[in-house]
Amino acid sequence: MNGFIQFEFFRGALGQDPRGRWAFMLPEISPDKHIFHHQKKILSCGSMKPHDLLHPRPAGLYCPPGDFYIDPVRPVERALITHGHADHARAGHRHVLATGQTLDIMELRYGADFAESRQALAYGEKLSIDGVTVSFHPAGHVLGSAQIAVEANGLRIVASGDYKRHPDATCAPFEPVRCDVFITEATFGLPVFVHPDPLNEIHRLTASLAQFPERAHIVGAYSLGKAQRVIGLLRAAGHDAPILIHGALAKLCNYYRGQGIKLGKLAPATDDEGIVDRGAGQIIVAPPSVFGERWTRRFADPLNVFASGWMRIRQRARQRGVELPLILSDHADWNELTATIRETEAGEVWVTHGREEAIVRWCELNGIAARPLNLVGYEDEAE
Ligand SMILES: [Zn+2]
Repeated sequence: MNGFIQFEFFRGALGQDPRGRWAFMLPEISPDKHIFHHQKKILSCGSMKPHDLLHPRPAGLYCPPGDFYIDPVRPVERALITHGHADHARAGHRHVLATGQTLDIMELRYGADFAESRQALAYGEKLSIDGVTVSFHPAGHVLGSAQIAVEANGLRIVASGDYKRHPDATCAPFEPVRCDVFITEATFGLPVFVHPDPLNEIHRLTASLAQFPERAHIVGAYSLGKAQRVIGLLRAAGHDAPILIHGALAKLCNYYRGQGIKLGKLAPATDDEGIVDRGAGQIIVAPPSVFGERWTRRFADPLNVFASGWMRIRQRARQRGVELPLILSDHADWNELTATIRETEAGEVWVTHGREEAIVRWCELNGIAARPLNLVGYEDEAE
């Protein structure tokens, strides 16, 4: 196909016809005239129905004509990966297609042999896989994260993986892609989840540092994305002092810096001898798993800070012994989810991991056909 890249590994034989499994994927028929409207729009896309192009299997979302999976949770022949978080990007697939940054991150986490072969696709570039056109578009979630558009016979489905719309200087911003079917996550898919301004949350941290200069502020943040975002936000808030980091963050922080993300001066929090500095009046960024471990007790009167969208729920903060919860999420909140669904102009929405029911209901009330996909294996904790 003219202007399209062909990739040999993605040109295998057609997958086994799974027609028998599709019955549960058929859209529900509703008397609502708006839904009929949308139904009509989708059915007009040639002879192809959405579930012919993409549907869930136990290993993940599968595209029969292209014979590939998106973010499979089990090892498969061909995998398209949205982003580097461990529940989406797993080792052991034969051939992997992803953005160059996601491939780099997979290599950092799993080693060079995480797949037999790999191919990078830049944002906006199109690839034809046995008549199915795929393209990657920024998802605004973490560095390299992408929504994957899958298109055939005039029907376009966008699998958005994880995404957010709040500004984040550490990755490319989300770009809405018009589509017939939009597949959305729903990690924070309840109206109660409205994330505050990230910079305001960071100011609560710098204020605490000024108030308790004798205490080490240990910030729990997931190693891919959240940790670098917290550091970047601290710099944006004017915090120029060196930031101490746990050893588990070093590789990814270095990678982010290599990709042009400014993180300022970072120093290891510990070395082979133990702690480098007791961290009084300093910020130490570490994976959240350190809370409750001996590691934190080495520092000066440690003050536990946790940066997560879940910090909206006080009970979760208390359970983890968090003194200063920062509501900082890399997932879309309720307003971002609903605004994004509207922007894609999708006639149908499939909802994956998270709180599917409320988003499905919201879609129905707004004349958009919607259904939960009930995909398993994606953790809403990993945020
Ligand atoms: Zn993620």
